[in-house]
Amino acid sequence: MASTNAPLLDISAAVAGYGKRDVLQGLTLQVAPGEIYALLGANGAGKTTTISLLLGFVQARTGRVRVGGIDPAADAAGARRQIAYIPENVALYEHLSARENLAYLLDLAGQAASDAAVREALTAAGLAGATHDQRVSGFSKGMRQKVVIALALARHVPALLLDEPTSGLDPQASAEFSRLLGELRARGVAVLMVTHDLLGAADVADRIGFLLAGKLVEEVTANGPDRFDVRALHRHYAVAETGA
Ligand code: ATP
Repeated sequence: MASTNAPLLDISAAVAGYGKRDVLQGLTLQVAPGEIYALLGANGAGKTTTISLLLGFVQARTGRVRVGGIDPAADAAGARRQIAYIPENVALYEHLSARENLAYLLDLAGQAASDAAVREALTAAGLAGATHDQRVSGFSKGMRQKVVIALALARHVPALLLDEPTSGLDPQASAEFSRLLGELRARGVAVLMVTHDLLGAADVADRIGFLLAGKLVEEVTANGPDRFDVRALHRHYAVAETGA
């Protein structure tokens, strides 16, 4: 894990897209170890493309992208080793239990762990012991996310990327999720979440960036006990949604 506060996720002036179309039009965004960054924007603003850029699925035409110092375009596997990624809908092996899923996913990541370590990670991610041996086919979205958070904990990854993590979570699951992200932050993980959920972002993020047509148009940092002025955030978001 990086010991300095140099950004772990580092995108500078990136232009990237699909075919001839540029979706990200000079995006600059940095997330430091131990920081939670929420990237907000309307449908099609380029949030998922930003995640794809960090994972090496989309390559920058110009600009610079680094994950823990690694260029995902040159070494996608190396960059991905530093990242745990939680997509909007977590895909797990439905007929396997939470414990079997985690053991298998750790094996695939080349980080086989003891049964005790697997159970410890599941517990740390907020899954009670009674659920460890249940098939995940019966799991809610919040419980599925916890299996992947357990994977992030067991792999000791320095970065966590989340796509729309709070959509479809009830308020209690959302609060539990915020608490877990806070724990990852305390462990020094750099967390980037992309979302439409302004209130969820204001609840947990240290910084919020507003993406409009592939560019960051505003960045707001949490400040003081009230953290964010939610009404002001709402105004920024309205601008980022409409470009007005
Ligand atoms: P949403 O909130 O709807 O998920 P987003 O901000 O995550 O939106 P992206 O998914 O990054 O936006 O998409 C940005 C633009 O790129 C959209 O116009 C989308 O149609 C287009 N796009 C996304 N993926 C592809 C792809 N694989 N091939 C071609 N175009 C794509």
